[in-house]
Amino acid sequence: MKKIETTCVHGGYVPKNGEPRQTPIIQSTTFKYDSSEEMAKLFDLEASGYFYSRLQNPTCDYVAAKIAQLEGGSAAMLTSSGQAANFYAVFNIATCGDHVVASSTIYGGTYNLFAVTMKKMGVEFTFVAPDCSEEELNAAFRPNTKAVFGETIANPAVNVLDIEKFAKAAHAHGVPLIVDNTFATPVNCRPIEWGADIVTHSTTKYMDGHGSAVGGAIVDSGKFDWMAHAEKFPGLCKPDDSYHGIVYAEKFGKEGAFITKATAQLMRDFGSVQSPQSAFLLNLGLESLHVRMQRHCENAQKIAEFLQSHKNVSWVTYCGLKGDKCYELGQKYLSNGSCGVLSFGVKGGRKAAEKVMDSLRLIPIETHVADARSCCLHPASATHRQMNDEELVAAGVKPELIRLSVGIENIDDLIADIKQALDALDK
Ligand SMILES: *Cc1c(COP(=O)(O)O)cnc(C)c1O
Repeated sequence: MKKIETTCVHGGYVPKNGEPRQTPIIQSTTFKYDSSEEMAKLFDLEASGYFYSRLQNPTCDYVAAKIAQLEGGSAAMLTSSGQAANFYAVFNIATCGDHVVASSTIYGGTYNLFAVTMKKMGVEFTFVAPDCSEEELNAAFRPNTKAVFGETIANPAVNVLDIEKFAKAAHAHGVPLIVDNTFATPVNCRPIEWGADIVTHSTTKYMDGHGSAVGGAIVDSGKFDWMAHAEKFPGLCKPDDSYHGIVYAEKFGKEGAFITKATAQLMRDFGSVQSPQSAFLLNLGLESLHVRMQRHCENAQKIAEFLQSHKNVSWVTYCGLKGDKCYELGQKYLSNGSCGVLSFGVKGGRKAAEKVMDSLRLIPIETHVADARSCCLHPASATHRQMNDEELVAAGVKPELIRLSVGIENIDDLIADIKQALDALDK
């Protein structure tokens, strides 16, 4: 296998002699065939090929193949968004009457998907603190538990998941671990190497990296033995009536069953496809992912250290800081760096945080993270503005918390901007 930097540039699409150098955008909904027999084989999953872009499209498949290589997986698919990726990854194995164990510090949109929308679909979730003991984690499992879910680096809490601890508990109960690797990206962490079975992404964030296309991806490690737990996973191990009784785990093996089923059933029925145009933009982002991640991490580390030294800052959360509660986990799982997102508290509470945000000149306020351009958000006056100060503290979002997504600009310019905004509190 090639090194990760080379895969970022060359993975996925490999042109043959005389073919386009850049990944072609196959802007076609459909594909032509000469015989009805060939078409029938595609519909029966007897042959692989393209027939309709809701199921599969070559451009999307090239980019999915690159992401599978980056994560060290056996197969991957693109989805229209990170939300769709997490929904498909879980719903592919947990349906009405099933149960899932999830880390409590996950992205708000994913929490809502699990705790509200999937609950209405009959899937129950138990949320556990990411730093819980092994005993507490094991106690969360039920006979109908079908998966465990967590984020490598949580958005926005930025705590680091102990992937090995979660994988061990999942495997002891015969279920896979699904890890959302959006913030770390495969450049900084490959969860499969630590025991994760399925990896998901909001490609909207660092993978795209330029705020240009919403998208998602699911990668299968190809390692989970569905057939060894066939009674838990009837969707993969029992005949599928909508495909003439195909048994995915038999026909496509450990390496192909999960992604084939998610494509053939969930993409077919829900249709959350990524467009070939978006996949092309995503691929441009992937070509420089390794270079950008390095700069994001260098800049964030320097800003975290600067913030720590400023008298108007009360606390900083970033796993690259010695003394951070996730420093050791960060050193273990993210030894090359974590990501560009950090959070900090300003002395003086909500009002002071608002004043700092309004004083920033280079760094704008945006509901976005993980972009080449730095941006910041004050959750208490944006995403969590309906809550009062007590409710905010209960939700783990302090009123003075500012979430900063550090971009790849010049570090001196960024620090100068943050410094003048913090100094403005003294005026
Ligand atoms: C943004 C995000 C999502 C949701 O992704 P969308 O592309 O916005 O649908 C899921 N997980 C994490 C960790 C995220 O940061």
